Amino acid sequence: MDRIAKFLAYEGRVSLICANTTQLIEEIRKLHDLTPTTTAVLGRFSTISGMMGFTEIKEKDDFLSIQLNGKGPVGTLVSIVRREEETSKIKVSIDNPYVELPLKSNGKLDVGGAVGTNGFLNIINKNEITDSNYTGLVPLVSGEIAEDFTEYFAKSKQKPTVVALGVLVNKDGVKASGGYMIQLMPDATEEDIVNIEKALEKAPAISEMIDKNKSLEEIAKIVTGDENVLILAQELSLKYECDCTRERFERGLISLGKDELSKIIEEDEMADTVCHFCNKKYHFSKEDLEKLLKEIK
Ligand SMILES: [Zn+2]
Repeated sequence: MDRIAKFLAYEGRVSLICANTTQLIEEIRKLHDLTPTTTAVLGRFSTISGMMGFTEIKEKDDFLSIQLNGKGPVGTLVSIVRREEETSKIKVSIDNPYVELPLKSNGKLDVGGAVGTNGFLNIINKNEITDSNYTGLVPLVSGEIAEDFTEYFAKSKQKPTVVALGVLVNKDGVKASGGYMIQLMPDATEEDIVNIEKALEKAPAISEMIDKNKSLEEIAKIVTGDENVLILAQELSLKYECDCTRERFERGLISLGKDELSKIIEEDEMADTVCHFCNKKYHFSKEDLEKLLKEIK
């Protein structure tokens, strides 16, 4: 079962969030009809997006809009993250879900090759009511996603962070998926850092630990090297939710402008739109489109 929990290590000088996202990523794999390669790509991206709902969203009505594009074959990855109390709600999209690359020489799925490295990670933290926003933009490091987010936290947020993400895929789908984020508080000591580095050297991959049914608390102890981690919150959850509406697609059609919309009415006599986050279809008949056309001044 999916779980997500927050911990403190080294007497509060280090914070940590750990997630088992196996069910969520299987749900996303089916929804977007992903290949093994794009399951790993979108699985890693969705896991970190979901965890950031708990570390980055502090105010009510805040949401995150995350875009990652490395000019690789999968195109742009997008996630929108909202937070409702103890639940982080995400929706994600990928330009090309059908990309499949040969395994790398180490036997792993080629996430970096699919994402590409010639691009940016762009994260916008926005408030729906006040419209205030914070934008962080960093060039990609490797396209492997975890390293790219680590760079974001270091460069854009000045917050030393270790991000680890992993998805195990077999022929039936997602076997194990998860991730963790370790963040150093300002009072973290050199000794804490050395201890964590030593622990991480020995720690198995996150997907492997989840596959072996290790609990999040066990994982927290393994990756920090602190036997006395403190559980801060363990009733957290991650949920896939799309909030698209017909009205939003109407606004999209109106925003095409008078000329473009008239052309669609003349040539196609209807429009079928699809939500990239949930694949829901919205059909607009000729009459619907003519009504929208009248709304354009
Ligand atoms: Zn939708």
